Amino acid sequence: MSHAMTPSVLQQLGACLTHPDQWLTAAEDCLAYSFDNSKRMARPQAVALCTTTAEVCALLAICHAHGVPVTARGRGTNTTGASVPMAGGLVISLERMQRILDINTADRYAVVEPGVLNGDLQAALKPLGFFWPPDPTSAGFSSIGGNLACNAGGPRAVKYGASRDNTLALMAVDGRGEVFSCGSLTSKNSVGYDLTRFLVGSEGTLGIITQATLKLVPLPVAKRALRLLYARIEDAAAAVARIMAQPVTPCALEFIDREALALVRERGIELPGGDALLLVEVDAEASALDAACKAVLAAAEGLGLVNVLGPTTPPKPRPVGRTQGTFTRLAPPRTEKNQ
Ligand SMILES: Cc1cc2nc3c(=O)[nH]c(=O)nc-3n(C[C@H](O)[C@H](O)[C@H](O)COP(=O)(O)OP(=O)(O)OC[C@H]3O[C@@H](n4cnc5c(N)ncnc54)[C@H](O)[C@@H]3O)c2cc1C
Repeated sequence: MSHAMTPSVLQQLGACLTHPDQWLTAAEDCLAYSFDNSKRMARPQAVALCTTTAEVCALLAICHAHGVPVTARGRGTNTTGASVPMAGGLVISLERMQRILDINTADRYAVVEPGVLNGDLQAALKPLGFFWPPDPTSAGFSSIGGNLACNAGGPRAVKYGASRDNTLALMAVDGRGEVFSCGSLTSKNSVGYDLTRFLVGSEGTLGIITQATLKLVPLPVAKRALRLLYARIEDAAAAVARIMAQPVTPCALEFIDREALALVRERGIELPGGDALLLVEVDAEASALDAACKAVLAAAEGLGLVNVLGPTTPPKPRPVGRTQGTFTRLAPPRTEKNQ
């Protein structure tokens, strides 16, 4: 159900922001905030480009008082429709809250604003020998706030966990416009409700995250990739079970099914026959890497293994566009829904 804000409410909301360029109401400006990767579309009546927690608080208090629907937004890359303002109202965009406030390698945490891109954080951490484990394929252009709200993970989740496992503390603003903090800088916290884990993955429905303290992990010294092609999906599944039942946990484990392999082959990339591909990465100290790869390969061998490509050093991530072009052909068309 759409909700039309009165001129008076719009004026009150606009007045919460420091600069006029943080407030968008023109239809063509709002259009850019009306979709994500889900193919759903619905235009908000206004967009606030917040730069401080105080602005978020002031906006939410007014929206609460007047029953205005609110949708939080990072970079709009999620694939579920979670950042599409289906009820209209106000979009609160965190894209301008882009500061990395602190990196503390001694205590292994970083404090960031929600609009920092995952890729920018990784780039800042790399020279210090650390990384933040969540690695959605959208890392280069998705925000930490969006990653947290979606509990984003990626191939590395098999060893390092997803966003929920790598968040120490949060600052957020609730639906009444009140700011609250949860979590702590330490791995062991006192007893009590774990609001941090509750907020992560809640898709902006419990509050708007305005600051996050993230757990840092030392970068692995060495890494190798294996591509394992199996005759059938069942053979690949059995291999995953064997790999996970031995002590060396791969640092990435991705599965590609027959339909996706057919699309890859259609694009002219040569692959031997086989209906299921496992992409496996192993990380370790340089001196331990050979043995770790050997152990994973030994577990991978078995019924249906038709080809082993590698071990190689992991390829650099390819531009998303090429793969995306292949897979978006399977997606339904975009539709506009202004209610
Ligand atoms: C090509 C591609 C590959 C992907 N690969 C993976 C993958 O491998 N693994 C995986 O887990 N995901 C993957 N994703 C999805 C990924 O989780 C999202 O891209 C990303 O987390 C969304 O970040 P965003 O900044 O774009 O947030 P948005 O899309 O803008 O928002 C996502 C959700 O977060 C909420 N939100 C945003 N900011 C805040 C905030 N500050 N406080 C509260 N709520 C907020 C929004 O309301 C919405 O519910 C992929 C997406 C794409 C397009």
